[in-house]
Amino acid sequence: MARIGFIGLGNMGAPMARNLVQAGHAVAVFDLSHAAMEAVPGATPAESAAAAARQTEFIFTMLPAGPQVRELLVGTGGVAAAAPADAVLVDCSTIDVATARAMSAESGRAFLDAPVSGGVMGAEAGTLTFMVGGDAAAFAAVEPLLRAMGRAAIHCGAAGAGQAAKACNNMMLAATMLVTCEAFVLAEKLGLSHQALFDVASQSSGQSWSLTTYCPVPGPVPGSPANRGYAPGFSASLMLKDLGLAVGAAREAGLELAVGEQALEVYRRFVEEGGGGVDFSGVVRMLNRSAA
Ligand code: NAD
Repeated sequence: MARIGFIGLGNMGAPMARNLVQAGHAVAVFDLSHAAMEAVPGATPAESAAAAARQTEFIFTMLPAGPQVRELLVGTGGVAAAAPADAVLVDCSTIDVATARAMSAESGRAFLDAPVSGGVMGAEAGTLTFMVGGDAAAFAAVEPLLRAMGRAAIHCGAAGAGQAAKACNNMMLAATMLVTCEAFVLAEKLGLSHQALFDVASQSSGQSWSLTTYCPVPGPVPGSPANRGYAPGFSASLMLKDLGLAVGAAREAGLELAVGEQALEVYRRFVEEGGGGVDFSGVVRMLNRSAA
């Protein structure tokens, strides 16, 4: 049994913390929302983030973005300072690479950036994929806990490598989704049915996860969000956030991303037109309108 602090109990954090409790660990929780803390039965609510970090071996954070995580860990939140000297800080939020590296240097504790893939369903089912940057010994220590919340945990390299992997992966996802949507729009214009395109491309070189698991048009993949009015799933606003992190990291590295930047612009327009709460595959509707 490990002694764990868990801070940030939103859509992702609450089910992750529940899985740690279910695996038999002692979990102290904190969230700005009192109601959120009640969503983790069996955990001990703490009075502050720093209080949740005291007398623990591992402190998980699952917060909206980099500024909140930094403020909480090394700013006025005082979490790193309150944590025992040999505790491991594990930030599972999706944030920018530079902030992850800065916190690794500033926290005075072992720090791992460990963003996830798999969404709310993966968090609830305990099937997340963790991509982890930071010290190898700290990763080995935390791996059994990641296994209680996910089915894969990959050590990607030094501090920031987990966030780098997340940014690259989600940029690939956005680009393959957009071009898959465009292919269905084009097929329609050319008189080719959705099902025929799916049958061909799913067995040809156009195959991708965006097509065969998450097909953006209704019909070919019954479980995809297209069949439930594009209810998320993974919202377009979260995809826009992740594309911003990828393009931002590229700019800091002096790199121009022709396709990644274009994908960012398309999702920005979709969100501006009111699509933020729609599943990211729902962008096909905007592309269809543009084609009409
Ligand atoms: P959310 O908005 O549902 O939850 C965030 C929680 O953090 C809220 O309960 C909020 O009250 C709490 N919080 C904010 N600031 C705080 C502070 N200073 N102290 C304590 N609690 C604080 O967000 P989410 O959907 O759970 O996402 C969390 C992270 O996971 C984000 O970085 C997101 O990009 C990433 N992520 C989300 C998904 C998804 O499908 N939702 C998938 C992969 C990754």
